[in-house]
Amino acid sequence: MQDPHAIRDAFTERFGVRPRMIVRAPGRVNLIGEHTDYNEGFVFPIAIDRETFVAARSRPDTIVRTYTSQFGQEDSFDIGQIERSPDHLWANYVRGVVKGIRARDLPITGADLLISSDVPIGSGLSSSASLEVAVGYAMQMLNNINLLGEELALIAQGAENSFVGVQCGIMDQFISVLGQENHALLIDCRDLSYRSLPIPPDVRVVVCTSGVHHNLEKSEYNERRAACHEAVRLLKARMPKVSALRDVSPRDLEANADLLPPTILKRARHVVTENERTLNAAAALERADLVSFGRLMNESHVSMRDDYQISVPEIDLLTELACAVPGCYGSRLTGGGFGGSTVSLVTISAVDRFVTEVGTRYKAETGRDADLLVCRPSEGVSRTTAV
Ligand code: ADP
Ligand code: MG
Repeated sequence: MQDPHAIRDAFTERFGVRPRMIVRAPGRVNLIGEHTDYNEGFVFPIAIDRETFVAARSRPDTIVRTYTSQFGQEDSFDIGQIERSPDHLWANYVRGVVKGIRARDLPITGADLLISSDVPIGSGLSSSASLEVAVGYAMQMLNNINLLGEELALIAQGAENSFVGVQCGIMDQFISVLGQENHALLIDCRDLSYRSLPIPPDVRVVVCTSGVHHNLEKSEYNERRAACHEAVRLLKARMPKVSALRDVSPRDLEANADLLPPTILKRARHVVTENERTLNAAAALERADLVSFGRLMNESHVSMRDDYQISVPEIDLLTELACAVPGCYGSRLTGGGFGGSTVSLVTISAVDRFVTEVGTRYKAETGRDADLLVCRPSEGVSRTTAV
């Protein structure tokens, strides 16, 4: 947990005045519902207690000055003319969000911003969305702008899509804005409706980073998207109303399996079963049935490993080591795949043992260090009481 008072002092030292406010926005992890977003299906993330803080103060002019403690770098731009930064990639997340607010004709002035985050960068916990959302919220609060949570999320996503140039879905920004303490958020990626469901207090969500990153990720991602698209096109021959795999049930798929080549069939099978699992997982959580929830997580992993084929041996090993620890309900790859992290649901009394055993055995078998982050489901973006 970062200390907001230290962030306040860092701001004061840097900008010569105290900040007017400090806001925070969380990173996230997806519990189940992988590669369903671009098939207009369901995702089920939590916001985690790793967050980006932004200390902020309005300026009387139109300049936005931003300092990030992460890289010890400063950026400065005029809100009247916002271009991509030639110097710092990170600055574009900030510029893109401010540009998105400006594009909606919302009246804003310049600001001094200081960023400080304990969301691990590039580990699949969405440090980028937490940065965008925190910056957007700070600008909103400084300028007394009324934005719905959904609008803020869309501005943040728009910044990442069109200004930074990363084609992410809406999940990360949505959960960073709308997450609720001790709840997971079931999001329907077709119409963006959502529902918060409580997570029992006696479990923790543990993220294990594998330390493996394959640069295959982007090309393989495009291949998977294309396969889903092709599956829809072929299924339309008999099911003309289908516009996305979201509209296909596992039973429909098997009944029409003869329409699809074997690889396309496997890809589609992952997506349609994953949608069903995600809805079943939400129903299980409603009954506080963690055993069923964990089983669905394990089935999700098998589906990603065998049908979607996006896992790697290190990730499979992490899930096996996790499930071997008594008190672990389930474990699966989370995120795009080809490395990255796993997510596991662990009863609170077993968490210490889980962290030690999974970490030690992973190191013994692979020589790699897994980073194990024990997370609680946290609140979405908010203003802190510091300052
Ligand atoms: P992630 O999975 O963590 O979201 P991304 O590659 O999508 O990984 O986003 C990481 C990028 O977001 C960083 O390279 C940096 O440009 C930006 N970023 C995230 N957190 C910060 C921060 N605290 N300060 C500055 N830039 C940040
Ligand atoms: Mg990101």
